[in-house]
Parts: sequence; C-alpha cells; structure tokens
Amino acid sequence: MDETHFDAVIIGSGFGGSVMAYRLAQVGLRVCVLERGKSYPPGSFPRSPYQLKNSFWNPNEGKYGLFNVWSFQGMNAIVSSGLGGGSLIYSNVLLRKDEKWFVEDNLANGGYKAWPVTRAELDPHYEQVEQMLNAQRYPFHMAPYATTARTRALQYAAEQLGLAWSLPYLAVTFANPGESPIPGVLIDEELPNIHHRKNARSTCRLCSECNIGCNYGSKNTLDYTYLSAAHRLGAEIRTGHEVRSFAPLEGGKRGYTMTYVQHRLEIERQPSDTHHPEELVPQMITTDRLILAAGTLGTTYLLLKNKQDFPALSPQLGKHFSGNGDCLGFALKCSDLRNGQRVPRVIEASHAPAITSSIRIADALDGGVGRGFYIQDAGYPEFINWILQILDTAQASGQILSLAAHLALERFKGKSASDIGSYMIQIFGTSELSSGLLPMDGMGRDIPGGQMHLDEQGLLALDWNIQESHDYYEGVRQKMKDISSALGAEFVDDPLWALNQAITVHPLGGCAMGNTIDEGVVNAYGEVFGYPNLYIADGSVMPGPVGANPSLTIAALSDRFAQHIVETLRGNV
Ligand SMILES: Cc1cc2nc3c(=O)[nH]c(=O)nc-3n(C[C@H](O)[C@H](O)[C@H](O)COP(=O)(O)OP(=O)(O)OC[C@H]3O[C@@H](n4cnc5c(N)ncnc54)[C@H](O)[C@@H]3O)c2cc1C
Repeated sequence: MDETHFDAVIIGSGFGGSVMAYRLAQVGLRVCVLERGKSYPPGSFPRSPYQLKNSFWNPNEGKYGLFNVWSFQGMNAIVSSGLGGGSLIYSNVLLRKDEKWFVEDNLANGGYKAWPVTRAELDPHYEQVEQMLNAQRYPFHMAPYATTARTRALQYAAEQLGLAWSLPYLAVTFANPGESPIPGVLIDEELPNIHHRKNARSTCRLCSECNIGCNYGSKNTLDYTYLSAAHRLGAEIRTGHEVRSFAPLEGGKRGYTMTYVQHRLEIERQPSDTHHPEELVPQMITTDRLILAAGTLGTTYLLLKNKQDFPALSPQLGKHFSGNGDCLGFALKCSDLRNGQRVPRVIEASHAPAITSSIRIADALDGGVGRGFYIQDAGYPEFINWILQILDTAQASGQILSLAAHLALERFKGKSASDIGSYMIQIFGTSELSSGLLPMDGMGRDIPGGQMHLDEQGLLALDWNIQESHDYYEGVRQKMKDISSALGAEFVDDPLWALNQAITVHPLGGCAMGNTIDEGVVNAYGEVFGYPNLYIADGSVMPGPVGANPSLTIAALSDRFAQHIVETLRGNV
C-alpha cells in the first residue's frame, strides 16, 4: 500500500481533526492524521514537578510535551499538543452556542450580520458529537456528588443573585450505562481503544486533575472516542509528525503535497542536549484532500507561513481573532453568616471534575444587557492546595514555633501530654486560603478584533487590544465580584489583569467562515475560497467568539464539513 499518498490527510488531532478523521474513514476513504504531539495512554500524564517541567512543547529544546504556551502583546494563550489535542487538558464542558449569538456585530457600519451557519443547521451535528463523546451531567442529585461544596457555592450565589444556573454536559464518564454513578469503577469498553489498553479506565474519581490530563481515563477524550473509532476503521494515525509546509498541485485540482518532520518522541533529552536539537529530515506526502485542523494558532500560522504558495487566499487571513472573552477570577476566603458572625465556608475546589456547573448571563441579543457570558466554577489538582497552605506560612510557621516552644516547656515541667492531636490540628492554622477558594472561569462574546500575522523573524504575532473589549471584561468582572460578595468572599482578579493582559484557553478565528472570499477564508462548509479540496476544520474558522466553551461547536462544525465532503463525493451536491 502506498504510504505516501492518501485520499485525505488531516493535520492535527484535536476536536476538528478527530471528528473529520472518523467521518471520512467511515465512508471508506484512506485517511491519514498527522499529529505533532505524543500519545497519552492512561497513567502517562505528568504529575511530579520534574515531569511537569518537561511537559511543555518546545521541540528546539527536545521537549514534546502537552502544554503549548503562547505569549503575544496583551494576550496569552494555552493550547495542547498531543493525540486528542485540547481534549487532553480541557475541562470537558460541552455547551451548544446560544441560538441568537450566531452573529457578527463589530461591523464598521454597526448592526448585525448573521454567521454563514445557523444554530438550526448545527443542531443535528451537536447531537452526533454529544453522543460520540458520551456527554453526561455532573450527578449532583445523588451521593456522594450532592455534597460537592464548589457546585453548591455557585448554585447558592446564583440563587441569591437571581441568575440562571445549570449543570452543563461534560465529556466525562460518571457511570456505566444502566448503572448508578460511583467514583472509581471500571469503565466497560465494548471495543478496543487506540491505546490497546484493556480495563485501564475508571469512572471519575473527582480528583480535579482534568487540566493536567486524566490518568484514570475517566474523561471521554478524543483518543478514546473519535480517534479510536477512526483507527478501528483503518485510519492511519501518526504521532510526532509535525507538518511544516504544504502546497497545491495544479491549484488544488490534483490535491496537495506537504512536508513534515518526524520528532523522535521516545528520546528523553537531558538539559545538556538542549543546544543540539534533533536532526530532522523533511519527508513528503501527497493527498487528494487536505484538511487543516492544527488549531486556531497552528492552522493560521501554517497558512501565513506558506502563503506564497496560495496567492489567491482571502485578505481576511489572520483576522477575526478572539480569546472567546476568557477571564479568570477568584472568590477568596468564602464564608457563611451564622448568628450574625462570618464563619469560613469550605469550598475544597480540588474535589470534583474541573468544571461542574455554569451561570449564564443573557446578551442584549436575547433579552439581557450588553454582551452575554458564562461563569463556571473551576477546580484544580490537590497539589495546588498544598502550595496555598505553604503560602499561608506567616500564620502556620508562627503556630509551629509556638507549639514547639509550648511542648518543650511542658516537657521541661515534667507534665507533657503524650497524645498531641489537638496541637497537630493547630499547625494547619485555619487552612482558609486553600479550603475557601472558589476560582471562576468567565467566557463570552468579546469583540473579535485581533489580527494574527508573521513578525520580522517569521514567528506568529498577534495585534490585539484589551481596550476594544473593555466594557465586556468589566461586565464579567462585576458579576464575579457579585458572586464573591454573595459568598462572603473577597474578589481577586487574575494577576495578569493588573498588567492589562488577558489569558485565553479558547483562542478562535484567523481563518474565519464567510459567504464570499472578501468576508472569510473558508465558506460555510469549511472549504478554502480559491482552493478546491483544501478544508479548515478547527477553532480558526470561527468568525467571532462562540461565547460558551467552544469545543462542541468546533466538533459540530467539523461534522458538518465532513458530511458535505461525503455528499460531494456521492454526487449529492
Ligand atoms: C485548560 C483548558 C481547559 C479547557 N476547557 C474547555 C472546556 O471545558 N470546554 C471547551 O469547549 N473547551 C475547553 N478548552 C478549549 C479547547 O481545548 C479548544 O477550544 C479545542 O481543543 C480547540 O480544538 P481545535 O480542533 O481547534 O484544536 P486543538 O484541539 O488545539 O487541536 C489541534 C491539534 O493540532 C496539532 N498541531 C498543531 N500544529 C501542528 C502541525 N504543524 N503538525 C501536526 N499537528 C499539529 C496540535 O498538537 C493539536 O493536537 C479548554 C482548553 C484548555 C487549555
């Protein structure tokens, strides 16, 4: 079999790439997925400080890790590198984009313009993806989940403030079909997964480690779902393959050619090796159809870098960037009022999956005021609590010193107690910093006014100004302040805010959909204007913010694009 030519090559294995791989393999196409990162079977995600230090993506220094961190003027971004893309480190929230939010409104002449795709057109695709990702709500109605303090806190604050609160779908397994949810039970997998690991996954253990990779396989990540299904259908899935360049053959009519480098992922490089990057021999591959799914930053970067071979590309390339309005805030030292006195409220944010519940603030488009957004409770791994406890040392070290002095004095007087449990409790102080912290993730309809381009060194750059979305961000921060007040807590901003900087885990845009080449890079079916058989299926095709967490919309759009390719093949279009 020819290993250098395929019916379809897909660059990237995130939400867009995985859905596309499965749908095209399903109709018998020879599909090849080229993913730059590693594969992560259960138990292989980093945990120790040493492992985490080596888990960043930086091939120049021999690092092929999970976290790809970008820093631009005014905006920072975290994306993932690995088989399954962002699903490996995401918070599992699957929300559909709000029906009335399918519009652009940062137009020169004001007013609204509809996106090239409507909610009604996407609904059947949303449903497909929800099924494939085995979407389930956090089982908050029953023990032991019902006592989750973080979920209760956000629900309580919403009730106090009269806000709409709900439990969104999560791509996490809490229970096997027909059984009640129980943490840590073996997940029944009917079919073999891509890692060829049997009986290695268990239901969610509520450890809140979703954002550093779930070592228990409880998340229904793309490697266990779409990519496993595509693999079973014969798709060739190659990790450590980073695409560097691509070009059309006869303007795309005869397909595309591309070069990639193959990283030697298995080699653990030592710090002394870092000045000697691996020798990479570019290899070539051709395809009838090329699907770019390297993520918002990856795909836009690839297209900008290879623009000389695509002279007919839309002038919109790089435009419409949005951070999906991401905004982080903290309710510090939550408390309850009892008999007129404030008593610490225990949140224990490291219990339960990374996000469990969501508050929705309506937009002017659907009965609200200003730009709509979501605020969700955010968890973090337990080790963060220990860091917070140590940071609380001023109090703790004083306690330890006075305890030691007290015990020494008692012993000296010859009347020391042998059971010192009560003293040990004192060492922990109030533990209020770690136990009473509620992080909040905000996201919504910011203004997609950012523009990506290449700088003088050929590196990806972004022109983005926080001022443009200033009113939006202020709206989100004010609501986070209200939630903090309702929880008797002090509101603390994400530290970057003071530096006029934002951070996003949901970068979008750069290769926006449009009705014509003047409006966008791709059409409503993801095909690049001017280049037949070249598609883009990832977050870069969004003409603006999704508003809600965007993965489900990226996956649903990819499902729609794939269906169109299949119908075109069958001659139905
Ligand atoms: C901490 C965190 C929490 C999040 N939580 C949520 C959530 O709860 N819900 C939600 O909807 N979204 C969430 N997201 C966002 C979500 O992960 C992204 O929106 C989503 O993954 C984007 O999908 P994509 O297909 O556009 O690209 P990605 O998933 O980023 O996939 C792109 C893939 O392409 C690969 N690639 C890049 N360049 C190349 C190249 N040159 N050659 C080969 N391969 C390449 C990358 O390694 C990557 O695997 C979260 C993100 C983070 C970081």
